Amino acid sequence: MSAMITINENYLKLQASYLFTTISRKVEAYQKANPDKKIIRLGIGDVTLPLSQSIVAAFHRGVDEMSHAETFRGYGPEQGYGFLREAIATVDFQARGAAVQAHEIVVSDGSKCDTGNFQELLGNQLRIGIPDPVYPVYVDTNVMAGRTGVAIDGRYEGIHYLEGNHANGFVPSPPEFPLDLVYLCFPNNPTGAVATRRQLQAWVDYARAHKVLLLFDAAYCAFVRDPKIPLSIFEIPGARECAVEFRSFSKTAGFTGARCAFTVIPDSVLVWDSTGKAHKLLDLWNRRHSTKFNGVSYPVQVAAAAVYSPEGQKEVRELTDYYMSNARMIRDRLLSWNLEVTGGENGPYVWVKTGNDSWESFDTLLNEAQVVVTPGSGFGTCGQGYIRISAFNHREKVEEALGRLEQVLGKTP
Ligand SMILES: *Cc1c(COP(=O)(O)O)cnc(C)c1O
Repeated sequence: MSAMITINENYLKLQASYLFTTISRKVEAYQKANPDKKIIRLGIGDVTLPLSQSIVAAFHRGVDEMSHAETFRGYGPEQGYGFLREAIATVDFQARGAAVQAHEIVVSDGSKCDTGNFQELLGNQLRIGIPDPVYPVYVDTNVMAGRTGVAIDGRYEGIHYLEGNHANGFVPSPPEFPLDLVYLCFPNNPTGAVATRRQLQAWVDYARAHKVLLLFDAAYCAFVRDPKIPLSIFEIPGARECAVEFRSFSKTAGFTGARCAFTVIPDSVLVWDSTGKAHKLLDLWNRRHSTKFNGVSYPVQVAAAAVYSPEGQKEVRELTDYYMSNARMIRDRLLSWNLEVTGGENGPYVWVKTGNDSWESFDTLLNEAQVVVTPGSGFGTCGQGYIRISAFNHREKVEEALGRLEQVLGKTP
């Protein structure tokens, strides 16, 4: 018998087409058929403003250091340079009353990879809770790892879906039964919803009561404008026993192309082996990181550290202010058309009920308004009937898009 390379068949369970691939195919086809039409893209979760001045200056300094023998750097520490981890711990956490130490911060090249890689540390028999609608990475990486059965009507066997809807403001509550691993993302992509201190406390209390591990994605924390909304899960008492937080410079500082992020794992988060022996989760992540990753490039880490200087803080605040004024403008206009709207106040996405099938709404808005949005059903079953509008674009484009959208959505009774 001839040898055969077999594959990881869990990949065959994945839903065939990736959401954003289908969108670009449709947009390309429309543009080809209508070459004179000007399309405005409010569908993408990518920033549009360039890196700010003091951050670019630091980036250059980092590159210059690499060009002199005395300051050249080869491999750095896999977990990130001390100067960056200290700055993160001080400014992002300690200054807000969250007791996070530099050694509990592990720097990486992105939160997409971190959230995807993290589940590799955990057993295969977990009861997993994942919100719906949701950032698709949490689901797909668990499918790839073999933690689910096949998908039936868009839902995988073996995942407990935490449903978001208008009634709960797209902030699911802890279920009545125990889970082992729960993903949370606030401010949320795709809905723009945020969780209050009380809602997060309920999740932390639930996690401690049932020995649940919470994976908290705070990629959009810099967009929160309401001072009562926590930016970090570690602002919640008890979270240091049960939570991990993912943060990224991508949206908060315009690093989607530069690549830098970090994961926070408190010393006190324990996980257990099959004999019941406890292990520090931080030790496992450090072990994985130093085996499979060789650190973020030095100039990028110097640039990321510049985010924490007084000028850097002021500049990144201006960046997020710009997007948030887009978001509020989108939100207010849609509300004035009497639509059901979530988000846009503390997150750069606006989540809108159209009353039609999500892809139908996508097609209508592309054909009649030449505006690209994201169909809500691409984020899960509960997203059906919704679209996501992104605030990541230039002001004039957003204004023009709203004028065009009014012609279509403004007519909805
Ligand atoms: C954009 C985004 C991230 C950040 O991903 P990076 O890999 O750091 O660019 C993480 N989580 C969510 C929900 C996002 O939308």
